[in-house]
Amino acid sequence: MAKKAARAPKRSATPARRAARSSTPVRKAAKAAPRKAAAPLRKGAARATATAKADKYVYSWGAGKADGNGSMKPLLGGKGANLAEMARIGLPVPAGFTITTEVCTYFYANKRTYPASLEGQLQQGIAKIEKIMGYKFGDAKKFPLLVAVRSGARDSMPGMMDTILNLGLNDETVVALENATQNPRFAWDCYRRFIQMYGDVVLGVQKRAGEDHEPFESVLEHYKHEHYGNGELEDNKLTADDLKAIIVLFKKLVKERTGKAFPTDPWEQLRGAAGAVFGSWMNDRAIVYRRKYNIPAEWGTAVNVQAMVFGNTGEESGSGVAFTRDPATGEKVFYGEFLLNAQGEDVVAGVRTPEPVAQLAGEMPKAYKELERIRKVLESHFKDMQDFEFTIQDGTVYMLQTRNGKRTGVAAVRIATEMVKEGLIDWQTAVMRVPADQLDQVLAPIFDRVAVKKAAVIAKGLPAGPGAASGEVYFNADRAVEAAAKGKKVLLVRIETSPEDLRGMIAAEGILTARGGVSSHAALVARQMGKVCVCGAAALQVDYNKRTLTVGGETYNEGDWLSIDGTAGEVYAGHIETGASEVIQGLVENDAESKKGRTFKNFVQLMKWCGEATRMTVRTNADTPEQVRNALAFGAVGIGLTRTEHMFFEGDRIDAMREMILADTLEAREEALAKLLPYQREDFFGIFKELKGYPATIRFLDPPLHEFLPNTEDQQKDLAKKLGISVEKIKQRVHDLHEFNPMLGFRDPEITAMQARAVFEAAADANKKGYKAHPEIMIPLVGFKKELDLQVDLVHEVARKVQAERKTTIKYSVGTMIEVPRGAVTADEIAQTAEFFSFGTNDLTQTTLGMSRDDSGSFLPHYEETEIVKKNPFATIDQTGVGALMRIAVEKGRQTRKDIKLGICGEHGGEPDSVKFCDALGLDYVSCSPFRVPVARLAAAQAAIAARKK
Ligand code: PEP
Ligand code: MG
Repeated sequence: MAKKAARAPKRSATPARRAARSSTPVRKAAKAAPRKAAAPLRKGAARATATAKADKYVYSWGAGKADGNGSMKPLLGGKGANLAEMARIGLPVPAGFTITTEVCTYFYANKRTYPASLEGQLQQGIAKIEKIMGYKFGDAKKFPLLVAVRSGARDSMPGMMDTILNLGLNDETVVALENATQNPRFAWDCYRRFIQMYGDVVLGVQKRAGEDHEPFESVLEHYKHEHYGNGELEDNKLTADDLKAIIVLFKKLVKERTGKAFPTDPWEQLRGAAGAVFGSWMNDRAIVYRRKYNIPAEWGTAVNVQAMVFGNTGEESGSGVAFTRDPATGEKVFYGEFLLNAQGEDVVAGVRTPEPVAQLAGEMPKAYKELERIRKVLESHFKDMQDFEFTIQDGTVYMLQTRNGKRTGVAAVRIATEMVKEGLIDWQTAVMRVPADQLDQVLAPIFDRVAVKKAAVIAKGLPAGPGAASGEVYFNADRAVEAAAKGKKVLLVRIETSPEDLRGMIAAEGILTARGGVSSHAALVARQMGKVCVCGAAALQVDYNKRTLTVGGETYNEGDWLSIDGTAGEVYAGHIETGASEVIQGLVENDAESKKGRTFKNFVQLMKWCGEATRMTVRTNADTPEQVRNALAFGAVGIGLTRTEHMFFEGDRIDAMREMILADTLEAREEALAKLLPYQREDFFGIFKELKGYPATIRFLDPPLHEFLPNTEDQQKDLAKKLGISVEKIKQRVHDLHEFNPMLGFRDPEITAMQARAVFEAAADANKKGYKAHPEIMIPLVGFKKELDLQVDLVHEVARKVQAERKTTIKYSVGTMIEVPRGAVTADEIAQTAEFFSFGTNDLTQTTLGMSRDDSGSFLPHYEETEIVKKNPFATIDQTGVGALMRIAVEKGRQTRKDIKLGICGEHGGEPDSVKFCDALGLDYVSCSPFRVPVARLAAAQAAIAARKK
């Protein structure tokens, strides 16, 4: 049993390790390259089954009606369900249908084929759209019905999967479109876009390893350069003839890269597009995204097919993305952006920098009024901040999507608290609305006020992800990842980001782009990840080839430092120190100015509600009075773990500690311990004083003792000299302790006695001064009841002595950590002695999984990649394994001692999912590091509210 056994040097690989090294089927499936291999949706491609025939796979909407509704997200995906819901409440939604997520599941379960009845349902779906819209799919004479094909998972995955617009165009239908609209530029622009998107997404014409640009973009840029001497010319400046010429070049590119001509049959196009969307569920970036946000692969995506409306018919048209409130700050303003004469993808891709949506009020007052109306309808119907896409076609507004908007942690707190004030939601809903894992953004650093005043702003962009970040610039995601892996602070700088940059964005402290608006890919992803981000800083000239950034006449090379303020949208030269947030300054530093701030006030309000809702309390893991002070400021109500061994490393205490370990006789050991006693007493007194009567769980020494001894030759020589003993003796002791793994059973009782005396004397001192000490002594790493008994007897004996000596009574209890499996499964026996249990899930995880907590970082990412583990078990409790042991311990512990106090003090105590699991187990408290206390409080409150709703 032991911590050290798990820390021991590598032995033979476990079966799980071997599996992770070899190429397992799981990995192959996950790594398949579906984009190129996307199976088109073919008629009769699947085996017909009885159930497939009976199932409904296509759900239509349009003309104020819908087969589905907003509550059907698992089946229809978020986008499909909300399109249906918007149609039902009378918002202007172009007709369409959703192919359900069940088809995606079927697709992967049946070798990328489809249920037999799907083809017929698809045809009916198109027929319904044709009827509502009055156009025919593939019509070569009149205005043809064109459709958009988009993915739509249950939870939105911005930019992670594929979209195809203007589907249905070919050399004939484009002419029909031209004739019907009398707008050649528009028609050929649609066709150009379609070939580009379809070529990229369905046919796999994409940039190859080492290329910085997409091949279609390169052709386009080359053309613009050749004909206009400006590769950066805006797309809407191209004439119909330009577009025709570009289409020829695009088709040539497709033929060169794929060996086949571009498909002309609209039905073939549609099947290919749907197949590509299903295929994109397993593309690399979607897998990375799902892993980060814990979206199960089994959910699958739906496919939405919707009649196209056009934002690129002229100056009375355009596309936009808007939020019903500001997603960065949470302010209640109509927020968003708009591109005249453009299709939706242009806004999101950041190709041109869009204008603020408010500008529409002057440019298209009628459309703006309609958008304002829609904004209100959306909020009062969905009762949450909405992020919606719209298109204005010749002055008429159409809704293409709405969803609950992603927001920063800061915005989440503000929106939730303000919606309560507005009467839109109740306070319990508000508590549920703030993602616990984003709350720490409210605590995120800001630039040091003094330092930033001295720094030079070199560019301005849009504030897309709040907070302050400083780092060395990298212009490519792979190199950014590499640099971050070496421990560097990295700022990812791109002209614009695309989903391929995701890994680099995760690795970076902050993200800076030269192009793109607040709803560009960079902004969306940064906001969700809580990354600091400035986008659309147009003054930056980025040269990928030279790996430089030039601005204001200065050139910065890869590796140079820049700093960005994602709250103000500013870019600074050089490195700037970061400082504490308003909340930290207000709560921890007691800064009066910060306390007047809105963020501070909203945070305090939220925490107050958490206090009202919660069942579990939150304690802190703290070893110093300062840590206790911080934690209490955040609302902790006691200490759940003081690691006393940390106290022995300060100043010259370590010398006494080493002397004690190396002592040959009991007398010598007691002499060394006597030197440590006053230090410990002082430490405990400081903690009791700071705690103001709250309980303190003090964990007695839990070391592999060799960690206290020096391990380099020089240090060992120094110590030998200091203590007047031979170096050999020190080496031998280090070796012995290392090999024999000193666990509790072997522990010298004198250490326990010294620590107990220090605790009780400090408690007596504290009580005398009116601080009301309440120690809870915790014995670690217990696997046997007897092991605990021996320690507890000692503690009680010392307690009796000190109380007699000091003529006082001390309120204390003695309990244990449950951190080895044997302790968990014999918890009924252990509870006969222990008055409380605290789950040490760090060690419980390593001993249960047989994975060292210290070197798991070397292989766990691989386990996660191959989905052997869904999440890092050292960060989030492995509920089925470790969690099962916890459940046994809870049940058995309570069998013996009905009112046994139960808590957790492993790192998991500050991780939202684990906190929720602890609530479900019925623990009394969780304990975590001071700065995680707010997150734990929020998660605990959310768990309590959710449990009450059940
Ligand atoms: C634990 O094992 O979970 C624990 C809290 O103790 P430590 O991390 O100090 O081993
Ligand atoms: Mg432990």
